[in-house]
Amino acid sequence: MKAEILSIGSELTSGQNLDTNAQWLSVRLAEIGIPVGWHTTIADNVDDNVAAFRIAAGRAGLVLATGGLGPTQDDLTREVLATVGGVDLIFHEPSFVHIRDLFAKRNRPMPERNRVQAYFPAGAEPIPNANGTAPGIWMMAGATPIVAMPGVPSELFAMFEAEVKPRLVHLGLAGGVQVQRKLNTFGLGESHLEEKVMDLTRRGHVPEVGITASDATISLRIIARAATLVEAEAQIAPVEATIRQRLGNFVYGAGSEELQDEVLRLLAVKRQTLATAESVTAGLVAHRLATIPGASNWLRGGIVAYTNDIKTALLGVPKELIDQHTAVSPQVAEAMALGARQRFGSDLAVSTTGCAGPTTGAANKPVGLVYVGLAWDGGVASWTFSWIGTRTEVQSRTAKLALNRVRLHLLES
Ligand code: AMP
Ligand code: MG
Repeated sequence: MKAEILSIGSELTSGQNLDTNAQWLSVRLAEIGIPVGWHTTIADNVDDNVAAFRIAAGRAGLVLATGGLGPTQDDLTREVLATVGGVDLIFHEPSFVHIRDLFAKRNRPMPERNRVQAYFPAGAEPIPNANGTAPGIWMMAGATPIVAMPGVPSELFAMFEAEVKPRLVHLGLAGGVQVQRKLNTFGLGESHLEEKVMDLTRRGHVPEVGITASDATISLRIIARAATLVEAEAQIAPVEATIRQRLGNFVYGAGSEELQDEVLRLLAVKRQTLATAESVTAGLVAHRLATIPGASNWLRGGIVAYTNDIKTALLGVPKELIDQHTAVSPQVAEAMALGARQRFGSDLAVSTTGCAGPTTGAANKPVGLVYVGLAWDGGVASWTFSWIGTRTEVQSRTAKLALNRVRLHLLES
């Protein structure tokens, strides 16, 4: 059984908008084991739509359409489906009440045109829309289900997940499940990381293990396909355990977790406060931590010390130290961290200094050369790295380097 996806709208066929709904739906269908055989895109024209639905219902085992369910004159999907089914459009009272209530909730009068959204081909089943006025339509063309959903992506996503996917599973159209587990690592290059898990990333390994790099974060994706969720999870568990055991502290989180999530979690566990002294990252480290709710319990504050005289005035970095080593040096990184720790009265302080490019700065150091400093009760240290990348890449990756140093310190202390 293969599915066909129809994307309806002249804004798509004209090239004005990109059809992202078909892409999204194809990924969701793959996850439940339904392969997609065709993507068809159609302009807002009745005859062309009728023809496209007939062709799709003739060759596919399942037809999923998006678009054309709005209240305006170019929204033709209701009329098209009635023609395809050879039936009339019939008024559906509960859908009308839903549409009317939605307008009442927003304190707006309901335009008369919205009434058309409560009409359905006779014999079709309305699909509730939790996020908008346009209900979806479920109807049968012979043995082939046709499912029409809204074009607005947020409405489509919610309707598919809540209403359509469960029905596909219930009807036995779904051929299984696909479960993904993403493990995020930092501090090891892509090929060094792969060397440690070569036996798992080879083609044909079950479950599949892939490596993707994004902004110096390297992620391992474990993808399991099985008949049931339990079986898929059982495939993933031992492979995840092996990866975690081999990579140790290089793994900092899973799914959408970022370094700052883990740093803040560890600060809370160890009850340690943190301050930042940032030159090359200009506040990015503090900002990333502050995006997490509850950051104020552990992040005391930060100083953006961009110029040399500010490093001296606000962080107490001796002028002679900068003259002797330049601002882009381990000595200055450490002095910045010590200065921030003292001024903020925090348990830990992290610093960044470096050359973001594209031209070499006052320190005349190579573009991409950075230092991260860390000060704690009784100690201070620094680390260096040479990035290749644009200005924003160097800044973003150096912020990660700094967060990672705080994380490793908290794990090891
Ligand atoms: P419609 O349901 O045809 O009224 O579509 C409403 C809006 O949803 C359109 O104006 C587009 O902005 C968006 N939309 C419709 N179809 C798609 C699609 N295939 N991909 C992405 N966005 C879409
Ligand atoms: Mg449209």
